[in-house]
Amino acid sequence: MRIILLGPPGAGKGTQATRLASEKGIAHVSTGDMMRTAIKEGAPHGLKLKGFMDRGELVPDSLVISIIDDRLDRADCTQGFLLDGFPRTVEQARALDELLTKRMCPLTHIIEIKVPESVILDRILQRGEGRADDTPEILKNRLKVYHEQTAPVTAYYQSNNRVTSIDGVGTMDEVQTRLQNSLM
Ligand code: AMP
Repeated sequence: MRIILLGPPGAGKGTQATRLASEKGIAHVSTGDMMRTAIKEGAPHGLKLKGFMDRGELVPDSLVISIIDDRLDRADCTQGFLLDGFPRTVEQARALDELLTKRMCPLTHIIEIKVPESVILDRILQRGEGRADDTPEILKNRLKVYHEQTAPVTAYYQSNNRVTSIDGVGTMDEVQTRLQNSLM
């Protein structure tokens, strides 16, 4: 299985992706997690990354695409993977199509978790993970960025009828069950 999970910030992608990937025995690839780790480990480009992330802006496409390109070459991805937080722009979606065509392993599932905006705000502000980008001000920016740059990614995939939408309102377990059912 080669899955991408789409949805706004606060849709619960991270938690659902972790569970689903472990259930299916595939790699969980989160660009946000990878970049937070790079920053923590003091990677040379860490400060630059931190600037974008702390402002709730997207990291430049070329950088994220090269991170994903390297990550897909790691051994664990041969069993399949679940991409969480990537692609976030149409440019990234196009690049991903190319990377996967080159490797002759197309996506098998594109799943969108749908959550109304009022629920998103409540969820993130209560998330309490202490993420530097979970403050109301930065969240507003992340949602704006989502609408402007990431929502068109769903449209990009919808144009060839490739997207399955699931309802993201409910308990963790309920949403996980819907996700798993959508893979059958
Ligand atoms: P996330 O953990 O997925 O919410 O991502 C946190 C932050 O990391 C985002 O607000 C962006 O600044 C950055 N980021 C993560 N994934 C991407 C991506 N695919 N493209 C650009 N920036 C990203």
